[in-house]
Amino acid sequence: MKLQSYVCGKWYTSPDEGVASYDASTGAEIATVSSAGINFKDMLEYGRTVGAPALAKMTFHERAIMLKEVAIALSGFKDELYDLSYKTGATKADTWVDVDGGISTFFVYSSKGRRELPNQPHYVDGGTEALSRNGSFLGQHIMVPRRGVALHINAFNFPVWGMMEKLAPTFLGGMPAIIKPASGTAYLTELAVRKMIESGVLPEGALQLICGRTGDVFDHLTCQDIVTFTGSASTARTLQSHPVLAEKSVPFIAECDSLNASILGIDAVKGTEEFDLFIKEVAREMTTKAGQKCTAIRRAIIPRSLVVDVQEALVARLAKTVVGDPRAEGVRMGPLADLGQRKEVIARVEDLKEFCSVVLDGTTAFDAVGADYAKGAFIKPTVLYCDKPLEVEGVHAIEAFGPVTTLMPYETTAEAVTLANMGEGSLVASLFTFNTDIVRDVVLGVGAYHGRLVVIDRSSAGESTGHGSPLPHMKHGGPGRAGGGEEQGGIRAVKHYMQRVAVQGSPNVMTAVTGRWTTGSTERSMDVHPFRKNFDEIQVGDTLHTKPRIVTLEDIEHFANFTGDTFYAHMDEEAAAANPFFGARVAHGYLLLSFAAGMFVDPAPGPVLANYGLNDLQFMKPVFPGDTLHVRLVCKQRTARMGQDFGEVRWDVTITNQDKEICANYELLTLNERTQ
Ligand code: NDP
Repeated sequence: MKLQSYVCGKWYTSPDEGVASYDASTGAEIATVSSAGINFKDMLEYGRTVGAPALAKMTFHERAIMLKEVAIALSGFKDELYDLSYKTGATKADTWVDVDGGISTFFVYSSKGRRELPNQPHYVDGGTEALSRNGSFLGQHIMVPRRGVALHINAFNFPVWGMMEKLAPTFLGGMPAIIKPASGTAYLTELAVRKMIESGVLPEGALQLICGRTGDVFDHLTCQDIVTFTGSASTARTLQSHPVLAEKSVPFIAECDSLNASILGIDAVKGTEEFDLFIKEVAREMTTKAGQKCTAIRRAIIPRSLVVDVQEALVARLAKTVVGDPRAEGVRMGPLADLGQRKEVIARVEDLKEFCSVVLDGTTAFDAVGADYAKGAFIKPTVLYCDKPLEVEGVHAIEAFGPVTTLMPYETTAEAVTLANMGEGSLVASLFTFNTDIVRDVVLGVGAYHGRLVVIDRSSAGESTGHGSPLPHMKHGGPGRAGGGEEQGGIRAVKHYMQRVAVQGSPNVMTAVTGRWTTGSTERSMDVHPFRKNFDEIQVGDTLHTKPRIVTLEDIEHFANFTGDTFYAHMDEEAAAANPFFGARVAHGYLLLSFAAGMFVDPAPGPVLANYGLNDLQFMKPVFPGDTLHVRLVCKQRTARMGQDFGEVRWDVTITNQDKEICANYELLTLNERTQ
């Protein structure tokens, strides 16, 4: 079977033979891969001119719903994806990480997009900056979708998740993508892309696929495009040195080799829960996906006094790992991706042996369950031991991308920190301890060299997502050797696909650009009370100025006795007089809020369904008995949630006194009925 690419809205088959990819367990040919004949320039142009405008005009909520619908569509084909996934060497559990993990990343981004982003095409980044004395000239950062294409070059190990964790923030950010999977496992990515395209949910031009080499695609990149890469550091260096990246300032996000560490705390001796959890996790990380995980534990950093205990426990646990064809009964670990990878891993183990003794050697031939060792890329877990890890750089630099880990002893926590950092930048480190002093020392000590830190102890283990799971909510990527990139991390990743622009101008300019009423911009006076208008009738800037109300000493005393808040500043003349802020008795802040509500509400049943909170409350000036309050209520922002028959309205509420001084300001949130 020849794999097809998806180019300019059509499936494309290359005319030449292509390169074959094989079943990792049986060695049987699955497909051939070639991108010969693709016009890469046209492909980019198609994404920019067809996909980009379609996505850019959608709101975040529309894009989020799109992600959800694609995920639902893909969920209907899980069995087909699983079947093909076994051919990559993945066990059932590995396949869940790849296929289900990829689909759930779309679901998570869909839900975060609707909860954390506005229902408009662009993002308002932070608050308004005052750039002038009188407030007539302001600044505001906004983010708009880049008008190019995101070129995603992926590794062989997670053909579905690797694609989807990049696509989710790309699409949510409003950019189209071209996916280039690793050739060896592109057959699985191709099936997933086919199902996504066939779902009909994505706009034309949003997603294209290159099965095979990338040809001259880099030559045609522009300043609006972005490249992300997962794979080896050497390929990253080659790609990053393409002159176009520097000439056109094309962002390049890399996620590469990483010698991730797991540290066993000095307190976590044999017999503690943390010791057992550590052994379990190291073994799990070695055997999941046969150790072909960018986040796998390559270095296990352990107290010197526990070396024998750790070796015995780890070897005993790994001995239970049944290795073979993932389709065979009882198999817990599948093969590596192909025979080339096995050769590569064994070569790296040989390199490591120069500095290490062997605790458990899995690199020699054995009877793989349900398979022929000679045809499949089987290897067993391999444990090495480096006695003087502070003196040997190689153990912190050579990555055997398989079920291989090196044990490294340390004497003090500070030494453990030094060892972890000798990886010169990793995606993740984990720590197993029940001592929070150790936690603080390690987290602050290794933080600068890592993208993610996981602390596991008896209180969190039951619900912990583990050392090796990148989550859509949390940043994935690390400094230095790990590539220096950042992926996921919730909405942070969406911003990679958007351009931040600083907009400067008048308050009315800010209101128009942000869709959020800005202090100083035009107030729309109304003949109808705003609480009589439903969500679709209210407009940003609609303003109500209330009638005044005088605050009396009786009001303050009544409120104090009624609520029980008899704080001296409200009730004790002498003590209040001594207070440096007040100098006399003052009204309660909560009394002002209550009065304000009494002044601006329209009480009859109507379209306002609920008051569900207030934000950014500040009391700026004390209110004294005899002061006269005025309240201004302005519709600040409206957010409609798709599929809901109510919308959220944010109101700017300002309470002033008789001298027009602002006593309090806050944002009030209401839910208002819709007509549409
Ligand atoms: P590579 O770096 O060789 O390949 C990664 C991706 O880059 C593949 O899609 C590959 O395509 C593509 N690629 C390679 N060369 C070029 C090029 N010149 N121009 C454009 N694209 C290119 O990594 P592998 O997947 O082969 O894995 C090799 C090693 O990388 C592993 O043994 C491991 O050490 C490390 N690795 C690290 C990962 C991580 O997440 N940190 C993940 C996977 C691997 P093609 O397949 O067509 O060559």
